[in-house]
Amino acid sequence: MSGFGGRVALVTGASRGIGRAIALALAAAGADLVVNYRREAATAEAVATEARALGRRALALGADVAEGDAVAAMVARAEAALGPIDILVNNAGIALRRTPEALSEAEFARTLAVNLTGAFLCIQRVLPGMRRRRWGRIVNISSGAARGGGIIGVHYNASKAGLEGLTRGYAARLAGEGVTVNAVAPSLIETDMLAEGREALARKVPLGRLGRPEEVAEAVLLVAGNAYMTGQTVPVNGGMHFT
Ligand code: NAP
Repeated sequence: MSGFGGRVALVTGASRGIGRAIALALAAAGADLVVNYRREAATAEAVATEARALGRRALALGADVAEGDAVAAMVARAEAALGPIDILVNNAGIALRRTPEALSEAEFARTLAVNLTGAFLCIQRVLPGMRRRRWGRIVNISSGAARGGGIIGVHYNASKAGLEGLTRGYAARLAGEGVTVNAVAPSLIETDMLAEGREALARKVPLGRLGRPEEVAEAVLLVAGNAYMTGQTVPVNGGMHFT
């Protein structure tokens, strides 16, 4: 496949799980790759090595997406090495399972900072270039928890609902400029984020199993490959909710 040949993609939180699968799917489809991570430098480097084995240019760059200066430095290094970012996938996220009673103000703030502000900071950095070139694809990884209760907590619900608002807000403002902004909303995907109670969770899914990171990646490539689709949220949830 070479649907994204000549494009440069930045995937946040791509050292593991869904982000890793998205990064490798984009590389397989022809894109050069920036593999962002926060802590797992070695696994992020392994993802970049896999992309290079596919014939792509790739580098792993550490940055906490919640820190504006770190995001700016990451994008500057990425663009110096690979050229302007054409495809941004805001995937980095945290999911602290908390009841309403146990949730602290600091945990609420950190969740919003990573899951929502992080996407904003990355978009703001790559957007001027996308607008100049009149081509860009932004995909935000939301969650079924943007609309439903979910299993994590109210802080996570709020961060993902906010991310979908951000998606539609940018989409509306960029529709005439060749830049599309969409969300993909997975539920119950087999990653480290769902390390506990997988069998019980799988029983909640009409399809009878958890989803695979590669199945989320397929939806991301679908929306990134479509120039007429913007402001949408695509659920990938085994039939748990219908929209
Ligand atoms: P995961 O396995 O826990 O991986 C999280 C990734 O995000 C890691 O690569 C991690 O990097 C990175 N990350 C965390 N905080 C970061 C920060 N501040 N800055 C940069 N990177 C950061 O999670 P996952 O299940 O693949 O989830 C990926 C996305 O899908 C998240 O947005 C999550 O909310 C969403 N989602 C997941 C599910 C699910 O069932 N798994 C369902 C709905 C939505 P390091 O490892 O290098 O620290």
